[in-house]
Amino acid sequence: MEEEYDFETLAVRSGIHRSQFMEHSEALYLTSSFVFESAAQAAARFKGEEPGNIYARFTNPTVTAFQERLAALEGAQACVATASGMSAILSCVMGLLSAGDHIVSSRSIFGSTVQLFGNILKRFGIETTFVSGADVSEWEKACQPNTRLFFVETPSNPLMELSDISALSTLARKAGAKLAVDNCFCTPAIQKPLELGADIVIHSATKYLDGQGRVLGGAVLGSAELMEGVRNFLRTAGPTMSAFNAWVFLKGIETLKVRMDAQSKAALAVATWLEAQPKIRRVYYPGLPSHPQHNLALRQQKTGGAIVSFEVEGGRDAAWKIVDSTRMISITANLGDTKTTITHPATTTHGRISPEARDAAGIGEGLLRLAVGLESVEDIIKDLSAGLG
Ligand SMILES: *Cc1c(COP(=O)(O)O)cnc(C)c1O
Repeated sequence: MEEEYDFETLAVRSGIHRSQFMEHSEALYLTSSFVFESAAQAAARFKGEEPGNIYARFTNPTVTAFQERLAALEGAQACVATASGMSAILSCVMGLLSAGDHIVSSRSIFGSTVQLFGNILKRFGIETTFVSGADVSEWEKACQPNTRLFFVETPSNPLMELSDISALSTLARKAGAKLAVDNCFCTPAIQKPLELGADIVIHSATKYLDGQGRVLGGAVLGSAELMEGVRNFLRTAGPTMSAFNAWVFLKGIETLKVRMDAQSKAALAVATWLEAQPKIRRVYYPGLPSHPQHNLALRQQKTGGAIVSFEVEGGRDAAWKIVDSTRMISITANLGDTKTTITHPATTTHGRISPEARDAAGIGEGLLRLAVGLESVEDIIKDLSAGLG
């Protein structure tokens, strides 16, 4: 479908290629391989002279439909679907970089991404310099002649720090690097990194694109030329998305906009309430005027998003008391669900980082991360109040 349609329309109608049965809902093609009409056709397909499916590690129509739909929403020429968010990040790097290349990355990124860049890629001769996501001058200083990739997550987890996508894209271009943005927290319903100048968008589809906590998946998006490298890695190495998961994501994306709107609105209400509580020291939410980068949030995001972090007075005991007093909210490290989830980062997602590094990153023992779902705001607030008394 063409760009003349609005986001809401593209979310439910792009990527549909009906079979001879003219099904209305997106078909799920559970097949690992495809048959050819003749030996000549098989040869033509393998040579790339004739378009069409060969084997599901290369393409599958349900996965293709997911790729087209997400590409339409991000405004990307091409999308490559992967088995998980982490395999999206790995495939991006393996497709575009080589030994001897250098990455500049925000320090405030998903824990497994830190391990991938800092430990695993290093063994293969790709070095990463970690800098502050919010301070563009640090990125400039970190650039080397072999810098090929800028990597950022905005807003960051769990402190909701923003990076200026447009400023970083200008700097990346000057440095001869590509800017990749992990758009997991916002999704294209809230933020469109390619429009702001980024070269690559990365997703953990596991979170808001599914939205209902069912399956793992990921995606890399960008120009057809850049995605060719990523696709070649994926076809050969194999961390492809399953057709079943692609089908779940196709249906999840149909409600993305209404979910993100409703969950953002609820998050703002909860954040506003939290800020008024005497035992809450600080609330981290880009949609609040008290957020130090609120103006940047207004520039590059449509809403503040659905994730709110807050620091409670009294350290770990006080934070755990809130977690353990909830009766409805799910205690889980996951996010992006219609069910509200609560996490104590210092002892879970960020528990393996040294206490000194955690302190330096500002992730205190009293910090909690709340991913606001679709329950009523009143019930969410009531559940949080129980442990605040
Ligand atoms: C969850 C997450 C990932 C990793 O995604 P998986 O689907 O779990 O592999 C990457 N980036 C961010 C920001 C995430 O929240």
